[in-house]
Amino acid sequence: MTNNDHDDAVSSPGTAASSASTTFPNPLGVHALVWTGSCTSEAVREAAQQTAAAGFDLLEFSLHDLDAFDTQRARKDLADAGLQVVGSRGLAPEADVSSTDPAVVARGVELLHRSVDVLADMGGHFLSGALYSAFGKYPSPVSAAGRANAVAALAELAPYAAERSVTLGLEVCNRYETNVVNTAHDALRLADDIGADNVVIHLDSYHMNIEEADFVTPIREVGDRLGYMHIGENHRGYLGSGHIDFGSFFDALAGIGYTGPLTFESFSSTVVSEPLSSNLAIWRNLWNDSVDLATKARRFMADGLVAATRS
Ligand code: MN
Repeated sequence: MTNNDHDDAVSSPGTAASSASTTFPNPLGVHALVWTGSCTSEAVREAAQQTAAAGFDLLEFSLHDLDAFDTQRARKDLADAGLQVVGSRGLAPEADVSSTDPAVVARGVELLHRSVDVLADMGGHFLSGALYSAFGKYPSPVSAAGRANAVAALAELAPYAAERSVTLGLEVCNRYETNVVNTAHDALRLADDIGADNVVIHLDSYHMNIEEADFVTPIREVGDRLGYMHIGENHRGYLGSGHIDFGSFFDALAGIGYTGPLTFESFSSTVVSEPLSSNLAIWRNLWNDSVDLATKARRFMADGLVAATRS
């Protein structure tokens, strides 16, 4: 992914006279659910325009409804806005590559291939999320046979994705959303077993807050295999309004020399997408003003990256 100059990434108060760098290499992204719960052409174009206007480099769409996208129009509107596009998703109970039912696994494999196609048609090069399981709370741990099915499915998907210049991310999600990968360590072992160069690790501060001991150890453990990063508060509202230790988070990213994307995720009952909002358990209204939320998030991210680079 290409990087932009971030000359507007101004210094923190009290350091304005510093001669240290005020730029950082990371593309900054925002999840489309900050703007809209719809995937119509009009919604995609408006989200692209708002994303660019707020100063972001990248827009992430959930691909939970593959048929909803007009991929060619989306591709043009995203390119016109100068944005990279990322796709994310989880699988579904009836289409789950971690199942032990061959028919369910086959539907999961089909869904993954179609997701690669839709993302590539939109001009994207990164597909991530819970690609290894359904998205939701499981009633029991993943079975060895189920995990092996997920490994086989992703090992088959990886070269297909590579042909379309798509890298796959394994997003580490919390225990209420998957039973296959809950920690960075789990994700590294899954990626080892898949054994493909275009499979990377995707961490998310919201999930890390639930599952990891701290924000430094897992980021260090993943190191140069970190390909994508979500930033979200513990309650998924305004950055800085919760209790996540973002100082440690940004320092850890700087410590491993992370140059990949950093994408803001936040959800409120103000913007609803069925069934995604229900899967994410978005019951509360944490914000009303998307523009204010996104603008402040981008500044928070830029300031955090600059401060960590200086320290
Ligand atoms: Mn996430």
